[in-house]
Amino acid sequence: MKIAIVGGGISGLSTYLFLEQQLAKDERLKDAFDITIFEPHDIPRLGNERADDIPSSGGGYGLAGNGMASLRRLSPTLHDQILRNGFPSPKFVMKSARGWSLGVMPFTDLRGAPPECCVMVLREVFVAALYERIPASVIVQHKVLKVEDGNDQAIIELDNGEILNYDLVVGADGVWSKARCAVLGDKYPPEYRGLFTVAGWVSTDYLPPPAETGPTAHGQTVMTFGPNGFFAYTPYTTGNISANEKHIRGEATLPPGKSAFWWSRSAQEDSKANPDNAELKQELEKRHSLWGDPMILRIIQASEVALKIPTFVMPKVPTWVGQRVVLIGDAAHALPSSSGQGVSQCLEDAEAFANPLAFNLAEVNKEEVDLKTLGTTFAQYIKVRKAHVEKVLDAGNKAGDSSRDLNYVIELAMYGMTWAMLKLFGAFFLKTIMDYDLLAEIEKVKKQSRSN
Ligand SMILES: Cc1cc2nc3c(=O)[nH]c(=O)nc-3n(C[C@H](O)[C@H](O)[C@H](O)COP(=O)(O)OP(=O)(O)OC[C@H]3O[C@@H](n4cnc5c(N)ncnc54)[C@H](O)[C@@H]3O)c2cc1C
Repeated sequence: MKIAIVGGGISGLSTYLFLEQQLAKDERLKDAFDITIFEPHDIPRLGNERADDIPSSGGGYGLAGNGMASLRRLSPTLHDQILRNGFPSPKFVMKSARGWSLGVMPFTDLRGAPPECCVMVLREVFVAALYERIPASVIVQHKVLKVEDGNDQAIIELDNGEILNYDLVVGADGVWSKARCAVLGDKYPPEYRGLFTVAGWVSTDYLPPPAETGPTAHGQTVMTFGPNGFFAYTPYTTGNISANEKHIRGEATLPPGKSAFWWSRSAQEDSKANPDNAELKQELEKRHSLWGDPMILRIIQASEVALKIPTFVMPKVPTWVGQRVVLIGDAAHALPSSSGQGVSQCLEDAEAFANPLAFNLAEVNKEEVDLKTLGTTFAQYIKVRKAHVEKVLDAGNKAGDSSRDLNYVIELAMYGMTWAMLKLFGAFFLKTIMDYDLLAEIEKVKKQSRSN
């Protein structure tokens, strides 16, 4: 059975590892699979412990509690490696541009034991930790130019002209996916949301001392909402990992590592506008100059612009599966960064696909993946994931709208609403996530298929 995974980002690599884990449960299946990952870029390699240097590429992101829980199910040692190499951020400090405190949002998932919380981590660090667990022989450093779906085989064309046949193709090639065309044609290109993110790094020496922002803010993620955009800063490594669990429970404060990550999101009509970094820095200074938190201007003045990212998201599409091609992660459903869920949903997709596939193969007692078994697995994957991810997309788009230019009344209403919701419901922003139990959903579809 030959499987091609197109793309070696979080989705592709975690799909490989979940497939390996799930197929290993059945002796007959264990060695019956030949999986190749196609990724054109170099493989990042990092040391095992705290990477505290500014990365050469990519940004940082928050791996939410549900993503960390999925990661723990994949591999407790990988989970702990990410925890050690990132910054656990169980509470986000929320502020207004006028200097008012809007409250503290818990970002924990206390449903399991031990508890999970959002971990701020560099993409490069996470990708490297996944690669470390994958044999080098599995990875082929080529770009896929085209994927074709078919009854008997799926076909992929590489940038060196090679044409290869596979029983299954996993399209994990991100928002500008080529694999998506095999499933949906070119009818559903990613949509520009009219929002632009500028990001960079700064030494944590610039983060506010406790007296300035309250006793717990020094080692925390701080998010500020304003009438003309949004600004956030966070440590992404910790100086002391031994207090992690206490920190997640809010019983201790972790000192941050050496550098912090910041990002500013605001409205911009043209996705292709590409101002130079110096011009952007001036623009940032102007935009945030009157904001209440003096830290923001201090951070901007002390750093260089490192990343410029227009927000493209995928619209809701009719399906993520064809006959022998399945889309995972951003290739299926690129989410806005304001959802804080992109990576976590990638991990959940990978688990929600690999688990039923191994189950179905074991049930039909086959090593070959025929079209019927694939069809059943694809239908289960869609049932477990699609409606849920679309809810996350809606919530993320709504959250992103607060970064647009707002008039005075709407601005004040936004602060009032956020303050009241945090006071009354704490983690209201996480409701869509907390109401969803991935493992229970997977078990539900497996039970249904047994009873059919
Ligand atoms: C500004 C910003 C902030 C974000 N913040 C967060 C956050 O805080 N929390 C969070 O969870 N998510 C966040 N995200 C989203 C998150 O980064 C993505 O959801 C996630 O990285 C998607 O992973 P992926 O593997 O599906 O796609 P990608 O990371 O895009 O990986 C796709 C891979 O496929 C490869 N590839 C592409 N084309 C081909 C091809 N033709 N052939 C072979 N390989 C190919 C690429 O080289 C790449 O390695 C953010 C995104 C942005 C833009």
